[in-house]
Amino acid sequence: MLKRAALLLLLSIGSAQADPLPALTRDGLQALTLAKDSIALHSVAGADNQTINVAELYRKTLVDGGFPADAITITRLNDTAYMVLRWAGQDSALKPLVISGHMDVVAARASDWARDPFTPVVENGYLYGRGASDMKMSNALAITALLHLYHQGYKPKRDIILALSGDEETTMKTGQILASQLSNAQEVLNLDVGGGTLDEESGQPLFYSWSGAEKTYADIALTVTDPGGHSSEPQAHNAITTLAQALVKIQAHPFRPELNALTRSYFLNAARFTTPHLASAMRVFAASPDNAQAVATLRAEPSLVGAIGTTCVPTRIEGGHALNALPQRAEANINCRIFPGHSRMDIIHELAAIIDNPAVRIEDRSEGSVETQPSPMNGPLPTAVVTAAQQAFPDVPVFASMSSGASDSMWFREKGVPAYGASPIFMKSSDNFSHGLNERVPLSAITPGMHFLLSIIPALSQN
Ligand SMILES: [Zn+2]
Repeated sequence: MLKRAALLLLLSIGSAQADPLPALTRDGLQALTLAKDSIALHSVAGADNQTINVAELYRKTLVDGGFPADAITITRLNDTAYMVLRWAGQDSALKPLVISGHMDVVAARASDWARDPFTPVVENGYLYGRGASDMKMSNALAITALLHLYHQGYKPKRDIILALSGDEETTMKTGQILASQLSNAQEVLNLDVGGGTLDEESGQPLFYSWSGAEKTYADIALTVTDPGGHSSEPQAHNAITTLAQALVKIQAHPFRPELNALTRSYFLNAARFTTPHLASAMRVFAASPDNAQAVATLRAEPSLVGAIGTTCVPTRIEGGHALNALPQRAEANINCRIFPGHSRMDIIHELAAIIDNPAVRIEDRSEGSVETQPSPMNGPLPTAVVTAAQQAFPDVPVFASMSSGASDSMWFREKGVPAYGASPIFMKSSDNFSHGLNERVPLSAITPGMHFLLSIIPALSQN
């Protein structure tokens, strides 16, 4: 999943205007071709998963371009695979730079799309296809940038490792394995998260935001059981209404508003790019997160509510077994996105206190997610991101953010490796159809994306 920062969609949603077809360099054309070839591969979890074919395509591209075949390993895991390219540095004592991405994509039902999702189409200045923006163009740019540097005779000081997972959109097991294998990394540049935002009208760069933290994903089951009985003989207790009362209490519960260094920086900087009303709330909140009016304003804005604290919301419900029987069981899933600094158990205790009814059983059913702390705000990578974004677009403002979704970064952060989401892609918020219908990436993103990567990869590997 491509996790961009809360991108203030309120700004202005323009019509999908055709960008002029940009002139591409040889590198740009190579990246476009690789992105198209990889989109044509159905790298979706399930029986006909072609993620391993994506890995083979990348390996062939790298080996044809001069990398030694033994620098690349592809490992199968169930229906998918993960890939590692290790470009050996001059000083093996230095910790490696890891460039992280994923090769799998979210499923797409062809009948719902205007064009076949697995047939890459270039039209109106866009490359269309499932995975175009999440994240096969980013992978293609990274591979092309590495080949460019290799041909240039660039000699990294530390190892550069391109680590591509194969089930980031589903089970996230391969990302976990990669993080275990690469836990000695200096830091992780995750190309799946963050990125540049272009103005809806002019197409000019507005800002670039990188992500240094993400919220913890949790699925928490609430279950009420009851002896049940004949529906003609109602009783004081009923599993469905007991569960419903618990759900209403959760909906009404305001989780504590919170701020960390990343979100403070985000609010202060992003306030320049939104409506005056929101901007004022963002600035007030950054200074005093307990200001009730600012909290109410931000909580009412779906793209920002996740940035001001933990959220928990019912996402599924099931109950009863017959139309004419008192329910013996009712169950709901509560999906929580937990602000960094709290464990899932903290939130389960908080939910138990809100519900305040021992008849409701509360159980953590989260899979494939770990609790992580924010990566440091300062360091080589946050510094290099500023230069890289400004190589793409001079003077573009660059600032930090926190992702509300989960990415492979969490597995590295769990191992104590600083991980940062910093995608090479600049695009309009209205062009972001990741996971959705008619996914696309503007061809105009290719050249700035190459500039970004050709700046940041050497910056992080030359000393
Ligand atoms: Zn993604």
